[in-house]
Amino acid sequence: MERSVSLLGKRFQRFLPEAEVLQAVQKIADEIARDYKDEVPVFVGVLNGAFMFVSDFLKCYPYPCEVTFVKLSSYRGLTSTGIVETLLDLPDNVEGRHVIILEDIVDTGRTLQELGHMFSNKNVKNFRIATLFYKSEVYNGEYQIDYFGMEIPDTFIVGYGLDFKEQGRNLRDVYHINQPLMINLVLFGKPGAGKGTQASFLKEKYGLIHISTGDVFRHNIKNGTTLGKLAKSYIDKGELVPDEVTIQMLQDEVEKASDAPGFIFDGFPRTTAQAEALDQFLESRGLQIDGTIALDADDEILIKRLLERGKVSGRSDDQDEQKIRNRFEEYNQKTAPLKSFYQKQGKFHSINGVGEIQEITDRLARVIDGL
Ligand code: AMP
Repeated sequence: MERSVSLLGKRFQRFLPEAEVLQAVQKIADEIARDYKDEVPVFVGVLNGAFMFVSDFLKCYPYPCEVTFVKLSSYRGLTSTGIVETLLDLPDNVEGRHVIILEDIVDTGRTLQELGHMFSNKNVKNFRIATLFYKSEVYNGEYQIDYFGMEIPDTFIVGYGLDFKEQGRNLRDVYHINQPLMINLVLFGKPGAGKGTQASFLKEKYGLIHISTGDVFRHNIKNGTTLGKLAKSYIDKGELVPDEVTIQMLQDEVEKASDAPGFIFDGFPRTTAQAEALDQFLESRGLQIDGTIALDADDEILIKRLLERGKVSGRSDDQDEQKIRNRFEEYNQKTAPLKSFYQKQGKFHSINGVGEIQEITDRLARVIDGL
């Protein structure tokens, strides 16, 4: 089972494994079977997205039934255009019958509206709607949704019959992409503020790539690269590595993940020159920083945290209080001015970085969801 897939250059994260989808299909089949066991309903699958759902649904449906398909087209890429065309119409034999629409997904309800028109002159006995996925938050259609497999948030999903620009229908699991499609965040804070810990949760939640310049330096040091040797001499003293080296390294890391849905920059930028370089670099790729979030905590709390971490991680710069204080000094002189740099752009946010890890993740998520 892949954790993420790439389709036409966009990365989608796994959202629902096939087994959960199949449970939802079974739930709908059980409910409809209970209501229609004495009838012979006509199931109307909505192509193309519902083909897989219809197939599995029929295997779960235990009583006599018929099946037919209609084809509309409303999605063009990632946003609904609002244009719905009829490509395959209903057969005439639905007259006087119990008809149940089988939709793969209902979001705003525009497609259902069009389906409603299709049925308006067919004199069906009754007309019900079943959908595998239901975005109840955004649904504003006039029809009642009679059966649904599961409610999902308003994200774009692919797999199990659903597509992104016609690809991805063959995936067994369902994958999603978070809106907005591209989000780039800077996590700010003194050493020990919890940037790395929080970044690892946020990257899962939002499907982002986490770039920690400190981690990249440590990786280079471990592998004895030229960059590592150079960086070590600064890191060991608790000083910042020179801008030109760090900026180049950061750009290389971003380029390595060119199809990412967005980045969390952790420990970068740490100087005004780095922040300016980052803006320029992102701009040259049609991107930008969407928000900068600072994790606030008192120095004394941070020093305690770092000394504790130093015992476990073995990081030499976390074991000596003098080096830690030097890193704070570097922060106050070189990094703190970035607050006004991002404030001027209207992109600076800060949250209380003291508390349970989950609480802090929730505080961050509230800021990110409002960006
Ligand atoms: P961190 O893991 O983010 O605390 O980084 C550890 C060390 O790596 C820092 O104390 C610096 O010596 C170096 N470093 C990390 N990121 C940067 C950066 N953006 N600019 C300069 N030096 C950095």
